[in-house]
Amino acid sequence: MLLAHCRAHPLITLESSRTVVSAAVGPKQATVTCADGSTYATHALVAADGLHSVLRPYVVDDPVTCSGYAAYRGTIPMEEVTHASAETR
Ligand SMILES: Cc1cc2nc3c(=O)[nH]c(=O)nc-3n(C[C@H](O)[C@H](O)[C@H](O)COP(=O)(O)OP(=O)(O)OC[C@H]3O[C@@H](n4cnc5c(N)ncnc54)[C@H](O)[C@@H]3O)c2cc1C
Repeated sequence: MLLAHCRAHPLITLESSRTVVSAAVGPKQATVTCADGSTYATHALVAADGLHSVLRPYVVDDPVTCSGYAAYRGTIPMEEVTHASAETR
């Protein structure tokens, strides 16, 4: 859905295969530099590059901390779902 809207929006230029390696964040403008040497200047920078974010240190200075929680998941056939399990859906 996001991809479809990005493609349809006239103000969005969608570029793939760019690896951001650094950024400079100022009060009115941010500039990102990519591994291929290209640079982009912007009024708004969204750091959405995941768990091992390169951009995070440029926008916040607190360290990434592990919550210590782990989730283990699995799947079972619907016909094996008990009545009690089905009620929680
Ligand atoms: C195996 C697995 C199963 C999961 N299952 C679930 C689930 O069932 N339910 C759930 O809620 N969550 C699940 N998660 C967690 C979920 O995938 C993440 O929480 C979520 O994807 C994080 O979204 P994000 O947008 O922050 O980062 P991401 O989805 O990681 O997106 C980051 C994007 O930034 C790009 N990027 C990274 N570095 C750079 C860079 N330097 N320059 C340019 N681009 C860059 C990456 O290519 C990627 O496209 C799962 C994760 C894994 C690994």
